[in-house]
Amino acid sequence: MATEAARWSLRHRLVGLLLAATTALWLLSALTIYWDAERESQELFDQTLQETARLLLVLSEHELEERAAGPTDPAFDSGTDPEPHYRSFQIWNDRGHLLYRSSTAPLTPLQPAASEGFGWARAQGTLARTYVAWSPARRLQIQIAEPMPHRSEIGRQMAGRLALFALTFLPLLGGLVWWLTRRALNPILTTAQAVAARSPDELAAVESADAPNELAPLIAALNRLLQRTRDTLARERRFTADASHELRTPLAAIRTNVQVMLRARNPAEAAEAGQDLLASVDRSARLIDQLLGLARIDASPEGNQVRFAPIDMGRLLAAQAAAHAGAAQRKHLALSVDAATAPICGAEEELTILLRNLIDNAIRYTPAGGRVVLSCRTLDGGGQLTVADSGVGISKEARARIFERFYRVPGSAAPGSGLGLSIAQRIVELHGARIEVGEGLDGRGTRFVITFPRAPGGTAGAAGSSAAAT
Ligand code: ADP
Repeated sequence: MATEAARWSLRHRLVGLLLAATTALWLLSALTIYWDAERESQELFDQTLQETARLLLVLSEHELEERAAGPTDPAFDSGTDPEPHYRSFQIWNDRGHLLYRSSTAPLTPLQPAASEGFGWARAQGTLARTYVAWSPARRLQIQIAEPMPHRSEIGRQMAGRLALFALTFLPLLGGLVWWLTRRALNPILTTAQAVAARSPDELAAVESADAPNELAPLIAALNRLLQRTRDTLARERRFTADASHELRTPLAAIRTNVQVMLRARNPAEAAEAGQDLLASVDRSARLIDQLLGLARIDASPEGNQVRFAPIDMGRLLAAQAAAHAGAAQRKHLALSVDAATAPICGAEEELTILLRNLIDNAIRYTPAGGRVVLSCRTLDGGGQLTVADSGVGISKEARARIFERFYRVPGSAAPGSGLGLSIAQRIVELHGARIEVGEGLDGRGTRFVITFPRAPGGTAGAAGSSAAAT
């Protein structure tokens, strides 16, 4: 549940990022437009103010000439005020007398008489843009003021329009981004739904034709996983079929032995059938043992369930030789061991199974009077193990197949399941070792040579293993 809560949505993140970026960009451009327009409108206002001032100056000079009688009432009649009410102006003469003023203008100068051009002043209680200019003959000076709130009106209107635009279009843009992202991410949903809708045994590759490039690696990885699962399933089905087939044979033999025992006419016949029954049970037990061993090794394909540790191969070989001495003796075989110390890194239980299978085969496939030689030694920092016999041998053609599961050389005299060598090969693989099969002792028989690599630290890997027929 914690992971569910921590999961984030790609679509939400994309929409959020896109909207944030769009809003930030929009805000930036709106501010730029606003500042630009504000600057230009101020320039335009200044220009108009300047032109008005000049015009008023000319008008005033003309008026003065007409009256020619000197200073009169220093105020214009508000009814004839030539300027809109928001602008105020004063006309001063060169002696500092106020000759005319608009109805809203104060009696005191807006700016000091010496200042010329544009400036700022407080007029009618607000900040105002001012302009001061002299007539060409420098007899009259005009001081004109325009309150800022009037000028800011245009800027306010523009800001209002921009805000209205944002309020209308940003939600629309948000919806559009949401819809487009949904459309763009649809292939992911479709692929996920297609995979989720599958039944557990539907392991065909996921279709990637309509998927975007970005999804291709994920689909490829998924398809590789499906391929591996298909292979494993196929292997397991084959194994189960083969195993049940193989188990049927010894069970049938046990049944026959029991029937023979039941029909025995005297104790000697019953004892003989009992011996056969015992042999059949032993064979079944061996087969089951091998099947279990194989299943156990197969369950750890990467060797991660198998414990690797430093082991002396010589000690293991000597122990297995001793365990098989009785069987060799019963078959009148000469079993010799040359078990030098050979430290390798390996899994003791699995290596014991490997030795048991090889020595067991050597004894079973060597006729009475033959020889079995076991040896091990250190080689290039690793170890080398040899199991050789003077038995029936394996033809060159058959050598290529003996490591296959359930394969038995046609006409094999000794009973068996065809699993021993495939188990041996799997164990060799787990140790990153190499197994070779060749000619045995006295120009006949079989020789298995296993070469273990130098152990790099604690564990031996499963890489680089192989089986070879020489
Ligand atoms: P099994 O011995 O149970 O049949 P294996 O996988 O151990 O199965 O061996 C596969 C086949 O290889 C055997 O059927 C046998 O013919 C042959 N084989 C194995 N080891 C030897 C050997 N030492 N000498 C001769 N043939 C052998």
